[in-house]
Amino acid sequence: MRNLVDILDFTTKEIDELVAVAKDMIESPEKYAHACDGKILGTLFFEPSTRTRLSFTSAMMSLGGNVLGFSEAASSSVAKGETLSDTIRMVSVYADIIAMRHPKEGAPIVASRVATVPVINAGDGGHFHPTQTLTDLLTISRKKGRFDNLTVGICGDLKYGRTVHSLIAAMSRYENVKFVLIAPEELKLPDYVKEEFLTGKTYVETDNLENAIAELDILYMTRIQAERFTDPTQYERLKDVYILDAAKLKSAKADLSIMHPLPRVNEIAVDVDDDPRADYFVQAENGRYIRMALIMMLLKTKGINDVRYKGEENAELECVNPHCISHTERGLKKLFVGDTCVYCDQHAARK
Ligand SMILES: [Zn+2]
Repeated sequence: MRNLVDILDFTTKEIDELVAVAKDMIESPEKYAHACDGKILGTLFFEPSTRTRLSFTSAMMSLGGNVLGFSEAASSSVAKGETLSDTIRMVSVYADIIAMRHPKEGAPIVASRVATVPVINAGDGGHFHPTQTLTDLLTISRKKGRFDNLTVGICGDLKYGRTVHSLIAAMSRYENVKFVLIAPEELKLPDYVKEEFLTGKTYVETDNLENAIAELDILYMTRIQAERFTDPTQYERLKDVYILDAAKLKSAKADLSIMHPLPRVNEIAVDVDDDPRADYFVQAENGRYIRMALIMMLLKTKGINDVRYKGEENAELECVNPHCISHTERGLKKLFVGDTCVYCDQHAARK
């Protein structure tokens, strides 16, 4: 049995296979209409995300399978104080595969330990969102036909954006990928992400989208949120600088791919929507097909893969991340690798 907690749970070969299957599904959906007949997907959304839940539901139904689950914690037994582990054990009886979203970081790791069916992480707090990254990779592959030899511009909130960190993790495994990191000083890519994925990789940092756009093969836009700034005048100064519009695209390559994880607020002007380089609506469609490929693959695969999430108990350490599942899940062993919490990847403090 396999799970998908983080995009790096999959090798590049496995990602290539998933992308190839998803492309075939786009070409010939009828071939897969009964691929999961009689199978049940449990969609456990401990926090609401209508878009992601619908994408999973649509994917399973397109494969001939059925879906059950809940769309917020208030409508589940969690509201009565049930632990995540107990909920997952119970759902493992009813479903053949689980897609879960949870506000606590590391929750899918806890789930994958007790589940007797494959677990897909559909987002855990600000931590991972691997099916978004798979969606991004399918979009890149469909547009460019490759993952290597690309100049990838990522623009906006590079500090808090989990989709950005996962995309960098995934793309940094390919040859000759150059990253252009476009962000204001306050929202620059954190050093730990650079150290983990960009050491030895070519990357440049800038706060100027217009100057950078001409060399890009991919431009990945993200939302800049006002509440991320300590100084409101700084937000006022920067918010319009990163609005992509038709004028800014004048110097861009003819085969640029413009991506955005959606929902957008105003960081891409509507005058870009009809541009053939705008791929963000195709991206949403790709999300459905890559989830179909993922569900099909996980239901077929035997064996265990949770080796990445092993650790040791250490009575002297305490995870300092308030959003970590280790603080709320009753009876959970608090595990560390060195001084890093296994569940949320953050450095722990000595008690
Ligand atoms: Zn933690």
